[in-house]
Amino acid sequence: MALSSVIGQIYARKRLGTLFTGGPGHAYVLTGPSGIGKTMLAKEVCKGLLCSQPTEDGACGHCSFCLYFDEGCHPDFRELALASGEKTIRVADVRSRIGADVNILPQLARRKVYLIDADGLNEEGQNALLKTLEEPPPSVVFVLTVADTGKLLKTIVSRAVVIHMSPNSEHEILSILQKNTHLEEEDALFFARYANGIPGLALELAQSQWFSGLREETSDLFFLLPTYGKAEVLTTGYSYFDANKDHIQQILVIMQLILRDMMLLIRSQENASLLNEDKRDKMVNIILKNTLTSERIERASKAATHAAQALSSNCSFESTICQMLLTIQKELKDA
Ligand SMILES: [Zn+2]
Repeated sequence: MALSSVIGQIYARKRLGTLFTGGPGHAYVLTGPSGIGKTMLAKEVCKGLLCSQPTEDGACGHCSFCLYFDEGCHPDFRELALASGEKTIRVADVRSRIGADVNILPQLARRKVYLIDADGLNEEGQNALLKTLEEPPPSVVFVLTVADTGKLLKTIVSRAVVIHMSPNSEHEILSILQKNTHLEEEDALFFARYANGIPGLALELAQSQWFSGLREETSDLFFLLPTYGKAEVLTTGYSYFDANKDHIQQILVIMQLILRDMMLLIRSQENASLLNEDKRDKMVNIILKNTLTSERIERASKAATHAAQALSSNCSFESTICQMLLTIQKELKDA
């Protein structure tokens, strides 16, 4: 394992590549949206900084220091992350595990490396960290991860090298899925496209039982809608949404993505690059059977967008969903 084992993130890897063989700075902040792979890349950086014979690609992967790191027992590595169930890292932990620890010399490596999940630091915790960052001992490197540097004190950001991680391409996410799951190619393609550049989301959803089930049930209902009468929409249709209230935003996204694909199919049936490739036949079928037009699909899609907005501003669940279902049913029905 080394930096080149990380798929994508060419810009970040290029900036980090100079760290290992030259003299690194005292603090680095890896930033990017949740699920982008900050912790994974940050661990590679820490490992490279602690390896006994690093290259520009980071850790060698086979020296004894690398083996200690992989086993989780490198004595010069400290990780400060959220304890499960907690929303912030305790200030006492910042003081005891960093403040009181930094002046103890490294035992094996040339330096000590601290990996800190800065999303877990509140202002008090950040202030405790700042004291050390202001006058760091020479042989210490901090690697912070944070979704948004705006959440960090300016005085912390100004003392660190900030490295932005960018969304992955569809192709990169496909490679990540292939490396980490046993998905069929068609399924992997769906998650790669659904995740919109965020590999962590693709992996999380691909490995979760509930999402696959939700997607199948939602699309089954969606394709049945045009066959329903008004009463059935308001009973059978609505009851599905009512029973899955906790996942309502995901359900609406799943429907939006089917509508997006139907729009593409209407415009260029053969070459359309679909999110729901596995549902192509069903979509083509409903388009042809009910002579759907892009205008009608657009109105159905707007109804779903409108419902998502209405629900996030606390409108009545039942009336919002029923209104949306009636609109979609009307637009998808044979005119
Ligand atoms: Zn090594």
